[in-house]
Amino acid sequence: MNRADWKAILRTLWRTAMVGAWTLATAHAATVRIDTSKSPQLKTWADSVLPIANEWYPRLANLMAAVEGRPLLDVTIRIDPNFKGIAAAYGPYIQISADWISRHPEDSRAAVIHELVHTVQDYPPGQVGWLTEGIADYFRYAIYEAMPLPDFPRPDKPQGYLDSYKVAAGFLFWLECGPAPGIVRQLNAALRVGQYQETLFTDRTGRGLRDLWNDYLTALRPLPNLPQEPKVWRHAKGSFEFQPNGTWTEFENGKPKWNFIETARTSQYIEVMDRPRNIRLRLTSPMVQLISKTGCDTLYTGAWSAASATK
Ligand SMILES: [Zn+2]
Repeated sequence: MNRADWKAILRTLWRTAMVGAWTLATAHAATVRIDTSKSPQLKTWADSVLPIANEWYPRLANLMAAVEGRPLLDVTIRIDPNFKGIAAAYGPYIQISADWISRHPEDSRAAVIHELVHTVQDYPPGQVGWLTEGIADYFRYAIYEAMPLPDFPRPDKPQGYLDSYKVAAGFLFWLECGPAPGIVRQLNAALRVGQYQETLFTDRTGRGLRDLWNDYLTALRPLPNLPQEPKVWRHAKGSFEFQPNGTWTEFENGKPKWNFIETARTSQYIEVMDRPRNIRLRLTSPMVQLISKTGCDTLYTGAWSAASATK
């Protein structure tokens, strides 16, 4: 056999091995286990968290687009009676303080989501801290807890995003819902390979990071006289109309269809919620957005009209 034949054989062998490795990696779904051997009193808590963690771990990886190239690791959550911090993630291990869980059982469930994000992130050392923590809290609060954007803390100062965590999470949420949809995935991808640069924000939006923070503060600043107007938002099939009792009704073809309570009002939009269906909408001047756990979708396009709500 000549040199070219050998090369062809080696190439085939290599491909077969790679397909085999890929099959092994994908056939095994990564799991999360919780080790309560040192804190048996928290077994009930662990049993309630385990299905949530196993449901959300692959989901977080999908939302962060982190699956390709690196298979997910099995994760062990250790409930540690001697851990002095609250919670931390190192490689495939998550450590949570037993004492803190006992004092904050609800909060600690969501903290597991935050730490699972760190496991998926798996960034090389030295990445931007406010983004690492901001992305973890974005998935915890905006996605897992479905917290409305106006509820995120927004310190009124330059570069407030450097406060990290929940503050940075709200900023990322606002970027996702308007100026830069998909930016969290993009940031995550850049951070994972150690290639994040602040210019990513400018490339996506045409605005620098500091300017975007100011835009965010301005957008969410309430208008003092807004509560009176607007009252009707019209689209091709119907309208959303403000009712005298302070709720909103969606009309379709002239008939009332759904009722919403108003949950937030800013200079840019009014946010309404249909609690029984757990649906939240944002009425803005050019469109109505559906705010779901996976992001923001435009539902209708239309506009405010000055007419008062009389049906
Ligand atoms: Zn963290």
